[in-house]
Amino acid sequence: MSDIEIAQAAKMQPIIQLAEEKFGIPAEHLDPYGHYKAKLSLEYFDDLSHQHGEEGKLILVTAISPTPAGEGKTTTTVGLGDALNRLGKKTMICLREPSLGPCFGMKGGAAGGGYSQVVPMEDINLHFTGDFHAIGVAHNLLAAMIDNHINHGNALDIDPRRIKWKRVVDMNDRALREITVGQGGPANGYLREDGFDIVVASEVMAILCLATNRADLKERLGRIIIGYKTDRVTPVYASDLKAHGAMAALLKDAIKPNIVQTLENNLAIVHGGPFANIAHGCNSVTATKTALKLADYAVTEAGFGADLGAEKFLSIKCRSAKLKPSAVVLVATVRALKYHGGIEKDHLNQENLAALEKGFVNLERHIHNVTVNYGLPAVVCINHFTYDSDDETDLLIKKCEALGVKCVVSKHWAEGGAGAEELAEAVLNIVDNREPGFEYVYDINTPIWDKIETIATKLYGASGISANAKVKAEIERLQEHYGDLPICMAKTQMSFSTEPSAKGAPSGHTVEITDIKLENGAGFIVAIAGNMMTMPGLPKVPTAEKIDIDDLGVITGLF
Ligand code: ADP
Ligand code: MG
Repeated sequence: MSDIEIAQAAKMQPIIQLAEEKFGIPAEHLDPYGHYKAKLSLEYFDDLSHQHGEEGKLILVTAISPTPAGEGKTTTTVGLGDALNRLGKKTMICLREPSLGPCFGMKGGAAGGGYSQVVPMEDINLHFTGDFHAIGVAHNLLAAMIDNHINHGNALDIDPRRIKWKRVVDMNDRALREITVGQGGPANGYLREDGFDIVVASEVMAILCLATNRADLKERLGRIIIGYKTDRVTPVYASDLKAHGAMAALLKDAIKPNIVQTLENNLAIVHGGPFANIAHGCNSVTATKTALKLADYAVTEAGFGADLGAEKFLSIKCRSAKLKPSAVVLVATVRALKYHGGIEKDHLNQENLAALEKGFVNLERHIHNVTVNYGLPAVVCINHFTYDSDDETDLLIKKCEALGVKCVVSKHWAEGGAGAEELAEAVLNIVDNREPGFEYVYDINTPIWDKIETIATKLYGASGISANAKVKAEIERLQEHYGDLPICMAKTQMSFSTEPSAKGAPSGHTVEITDIKLENGAGFIVAIAGNMMTMPGLPKVPTAEKIDIDDLGVITGLF
């Protein structure tokens, strides 16, 4: 059965009832969006935040460097959450909201897979509770106010050639990457170059995910720097345009965490969802904190490989929200490691121990980063695929054990929570018995350049970083006022290097920083490594061609 067929056969329970039953969330603090989705009130979140008493343990699910063979982080996060619940542990799952763009591109849905999914999957994948629309509109309101301000005399003296705030849409649409606005004469404003990013790349998304209350949200929105005055150095803030209040109003509901359920009727918060290659890639702080207050265990995912999602989870989100994970689950698949060992996508179903051994270096580097560079205990989860041979999984277990890391074969995709019980036991064994010695990989007060260099050399295996004179000058300029911000790396997810085709564990490469951007509202500096797009395109045969809906409203083809 396909993911969507399994999801459509789910026996969902009314979410308000389930939330009250499982975690005692009072119905008056839940805003129902139909029967199976609800938003949690911020007042309730605020009450929880002020409660003392022991918090739950945070478990981060991350992965090896992604390949077209698929790794299954979301599937594993759901499977592990269901398994912990099966073992009688009060567990809440925290996921990211899927972006519409990739749903119609290559990836299909992003609500888990097989028997480890969150439901209703069509809703979660398509418009869900409208959060991304609200974020897009809030972003575009600011864009409209910028051009309007210039049109009406430009009292702020904004340099139209130095506007950093583009427009956004939640679609993979390469034709919009670079556009011209204001065409058609004086009545339509000033002609200038502009462009579109995908919604998940918006600073508003990052802000929403990091904000902990409405005041914090509004304050961060006001701090957004949209560009510079004609003196080239004086920043223009969203608050100068008086846009932040209306933006926060548009985000009135989007800031509230969404609650849904798994196929096994356990609760999951699905909230926020920036891409981990161009943004910080973690779900919202409110979601994670709610889970930690309500449950004994919170299982959450960070996007793409551990070099991106986990790095930013640990360096940006944990720092900003004062979180400390108790364990890290590194998801790997036999197929993906064979791909890292040089096997093409079409030949991954055949047993190949030599290729597996060769590709293991990718997993090994991620294990090293998590356990040595961050000092966190790790469990490797082999997300089992039908074609994996016992010899292959045994080889991986042996190789991980030689590194002192527990490795478990997990069958949650095929069997649901029951298939991940061994993984859950392995995780419990760590989080209940060990106090992790978590350390940040860079000190926040080291200079911007050195912070980027530390990430590149320590985590990516690079020999160093480079940048042209213009980028270097911009880093120097930012150093003066924003030197103590964390770094949000924008790098290909496919490789430890900036070259997507460099599989395995490349080392000795130079990471070229091609651009540097301040996201003052989010509170970090984006360092763009190599060629990175902030607006994806669709593939030659987009998934959209297969998606359909019948006369009864049943959707097909969404994987
Ligand atoms: P990620 O979160 O790492 O991007 P997902 O969990 O969303 O990955 O999984 C991506 C796709 O791979 C989904 O369509 C899912 O059904 C499929 N998948 C995941 N695990 C397995 C598995 N063990 N066997 C077969 N397909 C799987
Ligand atoms: Mg995912």
